[in-house]
Amino acid sequence: MSTVAAALAAARTKLPASEARLLLGHVLGRPAAWLLTHDDEVLDEAALLAFASRVARRAGGEPVAYLLGYREFFGREFAVSRAVLIPRPETELLIEIALARVMRSGIHADGAGNAATSAARILDLGTGSGCIAITLALEIPQAQVTAVDASAAALEVAQDNAERLGAKLRLLQSHWFDRLADERFDLIVTNPPYIADADPHLLAGDLRHEPATALSSGADGLDAIRQIVDGASAHLAPGGQLWLEHGYDQAVAVKELLAAAGLTGIEQYRDLAGIVRVSGGRRQ
Ligand code: GLN
Repeated sequence: MSTVAAALAAARTKLPASEARLLLGHVLGRPAAWLLTHDDEVLDEAALLAFASRVARRAGGEPVAYLLGYREFFGREFAVSRAVLIPRPETELLIEIALARVMRSGIHADGAGNAATSAARILDLGTGSGCIAITLALEIPQAQVTAVDASAAALEVAQDNAERLGAKLRLLQSHWFDRLADERFDLIVTNPPYIADADPHLLAGDLRHEPATALSSGADGLDAIRQIVDGASAHLAPGGQLWLEHGYDQAVAVKELLAAAGLTGIEQYRDLAGIVRVSGGRRQ
């Protein structure tokens, strides 16, 4: 016979207490806080086995988000599977910048300079779980949001999330701009793969379990960003903006790429760790 307290104590030898509580709460269908007040609750065999298996998988390196099946992003729960990148807290910076830009600047469809947010056409490239596109669609209900991904499996996850969270957006299977013909947008956002193919980080921690195509991109990690920046001008409306997340050591290279593509008003922002993480600019 084992209680909540005993099960958590046993797991403590393999995992941090906070992770053990999340996993046990998930197995029992209870919030982790419930466990704190139910120390002496007796667990049945099935729950113990399910918990032990998740503890073993986590100890073996599987990301907590995949074991739970969700990750919180910008205050909402997004379903995740092995087909998609796990949403990261630093990507919330891209959301904040996009929201500020749509609210304050001339990003809108009619070019008239008033009621700016009404019909902003927004494109999210490589949407994965849909966390960026869905968050923007929910935060700016008037916007027309399109999200593309090359992976059909990722689009299914994004579709699920959009339905569950009540977001209206268009999902399209496309490798970057390939299927967008001559469509133009007022705001293009993306968190593309940006890790160098040979980066040892890919062999450690959660990254080992996430889709390689969502993470790495060529010898210097900039292949996807080059393609996106190159293609952006043809898909930005006049005055439209491109904002992208990139790697901790790519700020200079990304700034040069944006300038070489003819974008102006280039700005760069630091994440909470003080790393220049998001860059963007405007089409004239
Ligand atoms: N847009 C998704 C995210 O930010 C997926 C990004 C990716 O797969 N590189 O989490």
